[in-house]
Amino acid sequence: MSAGILPYGRQTIEDDDVAAIAAAMRGDFLTTGPTVAKFEAAFATATGAAHAVASNSGTAALHLAALALDLGPGDAAIVPSVTFLATANAVRMTGADVAFADVDPETGLLRPADMLDALARARARGWRVRAAFPVHLNGRICDMPALAEAARPHGMALVEDACHALGAADVGACRHSFAAVFSTHAVKAIATGEGGVTTTADRQAARRMAALRSHGMERDPTAFVDRAAAFDDNVPNPWYYEMPEIGWNYRLPDVLCALGLSQLPKLARFQARRQAIAALYDRLLAPLAPMLRPVPREGAAHGLHLFAVLVDFAALGTTRRRFVEALRADGIGTQVHYKPVHTQPYYVERYGTLTLPGADAYYARCLSIPFYPTLSDADVERVANSLARLVAAR
Ligand SMILES: *Cc1c(COP(=O)(O)O)cnc(C)c1O
Repeated sequence: MSAGILPYGRQTIEDDDVAAIAAAMRGDFLTTGPTVAKFEAAFATATGAAHAVASNSGTAALHLAALALDLGPGDAAIVPSVTFLATANAVRMTGADVAFADVDPETGLLRPADMLDALARARARGWRVRAAFPVHLNGRICDMPALAEAARPHGMALVEDACHALGAADVGACRHSFAAVFSTHAVKAIATGEGGVTTTADRQAARRMAALRSHGMERDPTAFVDRAAAFDDNVPNPWYYEMPEIGWNYRLPDVLCALGLSQLPKLARFQARRQAIAALYDRLLAPLAPMLRPVPREGAAHGLHLFAVLVDFAALGTTRRRFVEALRADGIGTQVHYKPVHTQPYYVERYGTLTLPGADAYYARCLSIPFYPTLSDADVERVANSLARLVAAR
Protein backbone atom coordinates (compact mmCIF):
# COMPACT_ATOMS: atom_id res chain seq x y z
CA MET A 1 0.00 0.00 0.00
CA SER A 2 1.54 3.33 -1.04
CA ALA A 3 1.15 6.23 1.36
CA GLY A 4 -2.15 8.03 1.03
CA ILE A 5 -3.80 5.46 -1.24
CA LEU A 6 -6.98 3.87 0.11
CA PRO A 7 -6.69 0.16 -0.76
CA TYR A 8 -9.74 -1.85 -1.90
CA GLY A 9 -9.49 -3.91 1.28
CA ARG A 10 -7.33 -4.20 4.36
CA GLN A 11 -7.03 -6.01 7.68
CA THR A 12 -8.04 -4.56 11.03
CA ILE A 13 -5.34 -5.45 13.56
CA GLU A 14 -5.75 -3.97 17.05
CA ASP A 15 -3.51 -3.88 20.12
CA ASP A 16 -5.12 -6.94 21.70
CA ASP A 17 -4.47 -8.90 18.49
CA VAL A 18 -0.78 -8.02 18.73
CA ALA A 19 -0.81 -9.00 22.42
CA ALA A 20 -2.44 -12.34 21.57
CA ILE A 21 0.32 -13.15 19.08
CA ALA A 22 3.03 -12.09 21.50
CA ALA A 23 1.56 -14.31 24.24
CA ALA A 24 1.41 -17.27 21.86
CA MET A 25 5.03 -16.72 20.85
CA ARG A 26 6.14 -16.88 24.49
CA GLY A 27 4.25 -20.16 24.92
CA ASP A 28 5.46 -23.69 24.25
CA PHE A 29 4.11 -24.10 20.73
CA LEU A 30 4.95 -22.05 17.69
CA THR A 31 3.31 -24.57 15.40
CA THR A 32 0.65 -27.15 16.28
CA GLY A 33 -0.46 -26.72 19.89
CA PRO A 34 -3.68 -26.37 21.88
CA THR A 35 -4.69 -23.07 20.22
CA VAL A 36 -5.44 -24.83 16.93
CA ALA A 37 -8.33 -26.83 18.44
CA LYS A 38 -9.50 -23.74 20.34
CA PHE A 39 -9.61 -21.71 17.13
CA GLU A 40 -11.43 -24.51 15.33
CA ALA A 41 -14.02 -24.81 18.13
CA ALA A 42 -14.59 -21.04 18.19
CA PHE A 43 -14.88 -20.95 14.40
CA ALA A 44 -17.41 -23.80 14.43
CA THR A 45 -19.47 -21.96 17.04
CA ALA A 46 -19.31 -18.67 15.11
CA THR A 47 -20.50 -20.28 11.86
CA GLY A 48 -22.92 -22.85 13.27
CA ALA A 49 -20.74 -25.64 11.87
CA ALA A 50 -20.55 -29.12 13.38
CA HIS A 51 -16.83 -29.41 12.56
CA ALA A 52 -14.14 -26.92 11.51
CA VAL A 53 -10.69 -27.86 10.20
CA ALA A 54 -8.10 -25.07 10.10
CA SER A 55 -5.39 -25.01 7.46
CA ASN A 56 -2.76 -22.60 6.27
CA SER A 57 -4.71 -21.02 3.39
CA GLY A 58 -8.14 -20.86 1.85
CA THR A 59 -6.61 -22.68 -1.10
CA ALA A 60 -5.48 -25.54 1.16
CA ALA A 61 -8.94 -25.56 2.75
CA LEU A 62 -10.53 -25.91 -0.70
CA HIS A 63 -8.05 -28.65 -1.64
CA LEU A 64 -8.86 -30.57 1.56
CA ALA A 65 -12.59 -30.41 0.75
CA ALA A 66 -11.91 -31.69 -2.77
CA LEU A 67 -9.72 -34.50 -1.39
CA ALA A 68 -12.39 -35.45 1.17
CA LEU A 69 -14.78 -35.95 -1.77
CA ASP A 70 -12.22 -38.32 -3.31
CA LEU A 71 -12.05 -36.21 -6.46
CA GLY A 72 -9.33 -37.48 -8.74
CA PRO A 73 -8.31 -38.19 -12.33
CA GLY A 74 -11.35 -39.06 -14.45
CA ASP A 75 -13.63 -36.91 -12.30
CA ALA A 76 -14.72 -33.34 -12.84
CA ALA A 77 -16.20 -30.58 -10.71
CA ILE A 78 -18.18 -27.51 -11.77
CA VAL A 79 -16.65 -24.13 -10.87
CA PRO A 80 -18.16 -20.73 -11.77
CA SER A 81 -15.70 -18.85 -13.95
CA VAL A 82 -15.90 -15.57 -12.00
CA THR A 83 -13.87 -16.50 -8.94
CA PHE A 84 -10.34 -16.46 -7.63
CA LEU A 85 -7.97 -18.93 -9.32
CA ALA A 86 -7.88 -21.10 -6.20
CA THR A 87 -11.44 -22.46 -6.56
CA ALA A 88 -10.60 -24.05 -9.90
CA ASN A 89 -7.02 -24.91 -8.99
CA ALA A 90 -8.07 -26.85 -5.88
CA VAL A 91 -10.08 -29.15 -8.14
CA ARG A 92 -7.18 -29.53 -10.61
CA MET A 93 -4.74 -30.27 -7.77
CA THR A 94 -6.61 -33.55 -7.17
CA GLY A 95 -6.20 -34.50 -10.83
CA ALA A 96 -9.90 -33.90 -11.54
CA ASP A 97 -10.96 -31.61 -14.37
CA VAL A 98 -12.73 -28.26 -14.05
CA ALA A 99 -16.06 -27.77 -15.80
CA PHE A 100 -16.36 -23.97 -15.91
CA ALA A 101 -19.87 -22.59 -15.49
CA ASP A 102 -21.30 -19.24 -16.54
CA VAL A 103 -22.69 -16.80 -13.95
CA ASP A 104 -25.42 -14.21 -13.52
CA PRO A 105 -24.12 -11.10 -15.36
CA GLU A 106 -25.56 -8.81 -12.65
CA THR A 107 -24.23 -10.58 -9.53
CA GLY A 108 -21.48 -12.89 -10.79
CA LEU A 109 -23.13 -15.80 -8.96
CA LEU A 110 -23.65 -19.39 -10.10
CA ARG A 111 -27.35 -20.16 -10.72
CA PRO A 112 -28.88 -23.64 -11.00
CA ALA A 113 -29.33 -23.24 -14.78
CA ASP A 114 -25.63 -22.28 -15.15
CA MET A 115 -24.67 -25.36 -13.17
CA LEU A 116 -26.83 -27.66 -15.30
CA ASP A 117 -25.48 -26.13 -18.55
CA ALA A 118 -21.94 -26.81 -17.34
CA LEU A 119 -22.96 -30.35 -16.38
CA ALA A 120 -24.34 -31.02 -19.87
CA ARG A 121 -21.16 -29.66 -21.52
CA ALA A 122 -18.96 -31.73 -19.21
CA ARG A 123 -20.93 -34.91 -19.86
CA ALA A 124 -20.65 -34.29 -23.60
CA ARG A 125 -16.87 -34.44 -23.08
CA GLY A 126 -17.25 -37.74 -21.25
CA TRP A 127 -16.42 -36.32 -17.82
CA ARG A 128 -17.76 -37.86 -14.63
CA VAL A 129 -19.02 -34.76 -12.78
CA ARG A 130 -19.08 -35.39 -9.04
CA ALA A 131 -19.24 -31.96 -7.43
CA ALA A 132 -19.91 -28.26 -7.87
CA PHE A 133 -18.19 -25.37 -6.06
CA PRO A 134 -20.60 -22.40 -5.85
CA VAL A 135 -18.82 -19.15 -4.91
CA HIS A 136 -20.49 -16.53 -2.71
CA LEU A 137 -18.96 -13.72 -4.75
CA ASN A 138 -18.44 -10.40 -2.91
CA GLY A 139 -20.27 -11.99 0.03
CA ARG A 140 -23.63 -12.45 -1.67
CA ILE A 141 -24.91 -15.95 -0.95
CA CYS A 142 -25.79 -18.25 -3.84
CA ASP A 143 -29.27 -19.78 -3.74
CA MET A 144 -28.04 -22.90 -1.94
CA PRO A 145 -31.40 -24.69 -1.55
CA ALA A 146 -32.01 -24.35 -5.30
CA LEU A 147 -28.47 -25.44 -6.20
CA ALA A 148 -28.75 -28.43 -3.86
CA GLU A 149 -32.05 -29.44 -5.39
CA ALA A 150 -30.60 -29.19 -8.91
CA ALA A 151 -27.46 -31.12 -7.94
CA ARG A 152 -29.15 -33.97 -6.07
CA PRO A 153 -30.56 -35.98 -9.01
CA HIS A 154 -27.08 -35.91 -10.58
CA GLY A 155 -25.32 -37.14 -7.46
CA MET A 156 -23.20 -33.99 -7.25
CA ALA A 157 -21.85 -32.82 -3.89
CA LEU A 158 -21.66 -29.07 -3.22
CA VAL A 159 -18.65 -27.31 -1.73
CA GLU A 160 -19.31 -23.64 -0.94
CA ASP A 161 -16.42 -21.31 -1.62
CA ALA A 162 -17.38 -19.02 1.27
CA CYS A 163 -14.08 -17.11 1.29
CA HIS A 164 -16.08 -13.87 0.84
CA ALA A 165 -18.90 -14.89 3.15
CA LEU A 166 -17.61 -15.31 6.69
CA GLY A 167 -20.12 -13.55 8.94
CA ALA A 168 -23.15 -14.03 6.70
CA ALA A 169 -25.90 -15.76 8.67
CA ASP A 170 -26.02 -19.51 8.25
CA VAL A 171 -22.92 -19.82 6.06
CA GLY A 172 -20.69 -22.60 7.35
CA ALA A 173 -23.45 -24.75 8.83
CA CYS A 174 -23.51 -26.68 5.53
CA ARG A 175 -27.25 -27.32 5.52
CA HIS A 176 -27.18 -27.64 1.72
CA SER A 177 -23.56 -28.58 1.11
CA PHE A 178 -20.87 -31.13 1.90
CA ALA A 179 -18.48 -28.43 3.06
CA ALA A 180 -17.93 -24.67 3.21
CA VAL A 181 -14.52 -23.10 2.80
CA PHE A 182 -13.27 -19.87 4.35
CA SER A 183 -10.07 -17.85 4.04
CA THR A 184 -8.44 -15.80 6.77
CA HIS A 185 -6.04 -14.13 4.35
CA ALA A 186 -5.21 -10.57 5.37
CA VAL A 187 -7.95 -8.86 3.35
CA LYS A 188 -10.78 -11.24 4.32
CA ALA A 189 -13.39 -10.76 7.09
CA ILE A 190 -10.94 -11.76 9.82
CA ALA A 191 -7.20 -12.12 9.33
CA THR A 192 -4.54 -14.61 10.35
CA GLY A 193 -2.20 -13.39 7.57
CA GLU A 194 -2.56 -16.57 5.57
CA GLY A 195 -5.07 -19.17 6.71
CA GLY A 196 -8.20 -21.12 5.88
CA VAL A 197 -10.94 -23.17 7.46
CA THR A 198 -13.11 -25.95 6.04
CA THR A 199 -16.40 -26.61 7.83
CA THR A 200 -18.57 -29.67 7.40
CA ALA A 201 -21.38 -31.54 9.11
CA ASP A 202 -19.68 -34.86 8.21
CA ARG A 203 -17.61 -36.08 11.17
CA GLN A 204 -15.67 -38.65 9.15
CA ALA A 205 -14.79 -36.08 6.50
CA ALA A 206 -13.58 -33.67 9.19
CA ARG A 207 -11.33 -36.34 10.69
CA ARG A 208 -9.95 -37.21 7.30
CA MET A 209 -9.25 -33.59 6.38
CA ALA A 210 -7.46 -33.10 9.71
CA ALA A 211 -5.20 -36.07 8.84
CA LEU A 212 -4.67 -34.90 5.24
CA ARG A 213 -3.49 -31.48 6.42
CA SER A 214 -0.75 -33.20 8.41
CA HIS A 215 0.93 -35.59 5.94
CA GLY A 216 -1.93 -38.11 6.15
CA MET A 217 -0.76 -39.11 9.64
CA GLU A 218 -3.13 -41.28 11.68
CA ARG A 219 -2.61 -41.29 15.46
CA ASP A 220 -5.83 -43.01 16.53
CA PRO A 221 -4.84 -46.52 17.79
CA THR A 222 -8.23 -47.96 16.82
CA ALA A 223 -7.37 -47.23 13.17
CA PHE A 224 -3.89 -48.77 13.12
CA VAL A 225 -3.32 -51.49 10.51
CA ASP A 226 0.15 -52.81 11.40
CA ARG A 227 -0.90 -54.04 14.81
CA ALA A 228 2.31 -55.92 15.53
CA ALA A 229 4.29 -52.69 15.19
CA ALA A 230 1.63 -50.46 16.78
CA PHE A 231 1.06 -52.31 20.06
CA ASP A 232 3.13 -53.85 22.86
CA ASP A 233 1.17 -55.97 25.37
CA ASN A 234 -1.98 -54.49 23.76
CA VAL A 235 -0.79 -51.00 24.73
CA PRO A 236 -0.23 -48.61 21.80
CA ASN A 237 3.39 -47.54 21.43
CA PRO A 238 3.45 -43.87 22.46
CA TRP A 239 5.60 -42.70 19.51
CA TYR A 240 3.66 -44.58 16.91
CA TYR A 241 1.68 -43.25 13.93
CA GLU A 242 0.68 -44.57 10.53
CA MET A 243 0.11 -43.07 7.09
CA PRO A 244 -2.87 -44.76 5.44
CA GLU A 245 -2.95 -42.20 2.58
CA ILE A 246 -0.68 -39.42 1.40
CA GLY A 247 -1.29 -35.94 2.80
CA TRP A 248 0.21 -32.46 2.83
CA ASN A 249 1.63 -30.04 5.36
CA TYR A 250 -1.29 -27.63 5.47
CA ARG A 251 -1.11 -26.86 9.20
CA LEU A 252 -2.03 -23.43 10.53
CA PRO A 253 0.50 -22.53 13.26
CA ASP A 254 -0.57 -21.97 16.87
CA VAL A 255 0.62 -18.36 16.71
CA LEU A 256 -1.74 -17.62 13.83
CA CYS A 257 -4.59 -19.50 15.50
CA ALA A 258 -4.06 -17.19 18.48
CA LEU A 259 -4.52 -14.24 16.13
CA GLY A 260 -7.62 -15.88 14.68
CA LEU A 261 -9.04 -16.46 18.16
CA SER A 262 -8.48 -12.80 18.96
CA GLN A 263 -10.07 -11.64 15.70
CA LEU A 264 -13.13 -13.91 15.70
CA PRO A 265 -15.08 -12.14 18.49
CA LYS A 266 -14.65 -8.89 16.51
CA LEU A 267 -16.39 -10.28 13.45
CA ALA A 268 -19.85 -8.91 14.38
CA ARG A 269 -18.38 -5.44 15.01
CA PHE A 270 -16.44 -5.54 11.72
CA GLN A 271 -19.58 -6.64 9.86
CA ALA A 272 -21.70 -3.89 11.46
CA ARG A 273 -19.19 -1.31 10.27
CA ARG A 274 -19.13 -2.85 6.78
CA GLN A 275 -22.93 -2.67 6.77
CA ALA A 276 -22.85 1.04 7.63
CA ILE A 277 -20.25 1.77 4.95
CA ALA A 278 -22.26 -0.16 2.34
CA ALA A 279 -25.39 1.83 3.22
CA LEU A 280 -23.46 5.10 2.90
CA TYR A 281 -22.01 4.05 -0.49
CA ASP A 282 -25.51 3.05 -1.66
CA ARG A 283 -26.85 6.49 -0.77
CA LEU A 284 -23.94 8.49 -2.19
CA LEU A 285 -23.66 6.47 -5.41
CA ALA A 286 -27.39 6.28 -6.19
CA PRO A 287 -27.31 9.41 -8.42
CA LEU A 288 -24.61 7.81 -10.62
CA ALA A 289 -26.92 5.08 -11.94
CA PRO A 290 -27.21 3.74 -14.56
CA MET A 291 -23.62 4.59 -15.54
CA LEU A 292 -22.27 3.30 -12.25
CA ARG A 293 -24.18 1.27 -9.69
CA PRO A 294 -23.38 -1.14 -6.88
CA VAL A 295 -23.61 -4.85 -7.64
CA PRO A 296 -27.10 -5.76 -6.33
CA ARG A 297 -27.09 -7.10 -2.77
CA GLU A 298 -30.72 -8.21 -2.29
CA GLY A 299 -31.34 -11.12 0.05
CA ALA A 300 -31.01 -11.44 3.78
CA ALA A 301 -27.54 -12.80 4.36
CA HIS A 302 -24.47 -11.11 2.88
CA GLY A 303 -20.83 -11.50 3.85
CA LEU A 304 -20.04 -7.88 2.78
CA HIS A 305 -16.49 -8.79 1.80
CA LEU A 306 -16.07 -6.62 -1.28
CA PHE A 307 -17.94 -3.54 -2.45
CA ALA A 308 -18.12 -3.94 -6.21
CA VAL A 309 -19.70 -1.50 -8.64
CA LEU A 310 -20.73 -2.13 -12.24
CA VAL A 311 -19.53 0.62 -14.56
CA ASP A 312 -20.48 1.19 -18.20
CA PHE A 313 -17.01 2.31 -19.24
CA ALA A 314 -17.87 2.54 -22.95
CA ALA A 315 -20.90 4.78 -22.33
CA LEU A 316 -18.65 6.99 -20.22
CA GLY A 317 -16.30 7.24 -23.20
CA THR A 318 -13.46 5.74 -21.24
CA THR A 319 -11.75 2.43 -20.52
CA ARG A 320 -11.39 0.66 -17.21
CA ARG A 321 -7.64 1.30 -17.25
CA ARG A 322 -8.14 5.06 -17.62
CA PHE A 323 -10.89 5.05 -15.01
CA VAL A 324 -8.73 3.07 -12.53
CA GLU A 325 -5.75 5.35 -13.13
CA ALA A 326 -7.88 8.48 -12.63
CA LEU A 327 -9.07 7.07 -9.30
CA ARG A 328 -5.52 6.22 -8.36
CA ALA A 329 -4.48 9.80 -9.07
CA ASP A 330 -7.15 10.73 -6.50
CA GLY A 331 -5.57 8.35 -3.99
CA ILE A 332 -8.18 5.64 -4.43
CA GLY A 333 -7.15 2.02 -4.93
CA THR A 334 -9.37 -0.46 -6.74
CA GLN A 335 -9.20 -4.07 -7.94
CA VAL A 336 -11.06 -6.26 -10.41
CA HIS A 337 -12.61 -9.45 -9.00
CA TYR A 338 -12.18 -11.43 -11.23
CA LYS A 339 -10.97 -12.10 -14.76
CA PRO A 340 -12.96 -15.23 -15.67
CA VAL A 341 -10.74 -18.19 -14.81
CA HIS A 342 -11.68 -20.11 -17.96
CA THR A 343 -9.74 -17.46 -19.92
CA GLN A 344 -6.47 -18.10 -18.04
CA PRO A 345 -3.81 -19.47 -20.41
CA TYR A 346 -3.41 -22.69 -18.39
CA TYR A 347 -7.11 -23.51 -18.72
CA VAL A 348 -7.36 -22.38 -22.37
CA GLU A 349 -4.46 -24.69 -23.19
CA ARG A 350 -6.11 -27.58 -21.34
CA TYR A 351 -9.74 -27.13 -22.38
CA GLY A 352 -9.72 -24.84 -25.42
CA THR A 353 -11.70 -21.62 -25.64
CA LEU A 354 -15.12 -21.46 -24.07
CA THR A 355 -17.75 -18.73 -24.37
CA LEU A 356 -19.43 -17.75 -21.10
CA PRO A 357 -21.34 -14.52 -21.84
CA GLY A 358 -22.55 -13.88 -18.27
CA ALA A 359 -19.00 -14.13 -16.93
CA ASP A 360 -17.68 -11.85 -19.69
CA ALA A 361 -20.43 -9.27 -19.09
CA TYR A 362 -19.80 -9.22 -15.33
CA TYR A 363 -16.04 -8.96 -15.79
CA ALA A 364 -16.34 -6.16 -18.35
CA ARG A 365 -18.06 -3.84 -15.83
CA CYS A 366 -16.98 -4.82 -12.31
CA LEU A 367 -14.69 -2.78 -10.10
CA SER A 368 -14.10 -3.22 -6.36
CA ILE A 369 -13.74 0.08 -4.48
CA PRO A 370 -12.28 0.63 -0.97
CA PHE A 371 -14.24 -1.34 1.63
CA TYR A 372 -12.98 -2.35 5.07
CA PRO A 373 -13.98 -1.67 8.68
CA THR A 374 -11.44 1.11 9.35
CA LEU A 375 -12.57 3.15 6.35
CA SER A 376 -14.01 6.41 7.76
CA ASP A 377 -17.20 8.11 6.59
CA ALA A 378 -14.97 10.89 5.24
CA ASP A 379 -13.01 8.29 3.21
CA VAL A 380 -16.27 6.90 1.81
CA GLU A 381 -17.38 10.42 0.84
CA ARG A 382 -14.02 11.05 -0.81
CA VAL A 383 -14.37 7.87 -2.89
CA ALA A 384 -17.96 8.70 -3.84
CA ASN A 385 -17.05 12.27 -4.80
CA SER A 386 -14.20 11.05 -6.96
CA LEU A 387 -16.47 8.53 -8.71
CA ALA A 388 -19.12 11.22 -9.21
CA ARG A 389 -16.55 13.54 -10.79
CA LEU A 390 -15.44 10.81 -13.21
CA VAL A 391 -18.99 9.91 -14.16
CA ALA A 392 -19.99 13.59 -14.66
CA ALA A 393 -16.89 14.23 -16.78
CA ARG A 394 -18.12 12.04 -19.64
C1 LIG B 1 -9.24 -15.58 -0.91
C2 LIG B 1 -9.97 -16.55 -1.76
C3 LIG B 1 -9.58 -17.89 -1.91
C4 LIG B 1 -8.28 -18.47 -1.43
O1 LIG B 1 -7.84 -18.02 -0.29
P1 LIG B 1 -6.29 -17.95 0.14
O2 LIG B 1 -6.46 -17.92 1.61
O3 LIG B 1 -5.73 -16.70 -0.44
O4 LIG B 1 -5.62 -19.19 -0.34
C5 LIG B 1 -10.40 -18.73 -2.63
N1 LIG B 1 -11.53 -18.28 -3.20
C6 LIG B 1 -11.93 -17.01 -3.09
C7 LIG B 1 -13.19 -16.59 -3.75
C8 LIG B 1 -11.15 -16.10 -2.39
O5 LIG B 1 -11.52 -14.81 -2.32
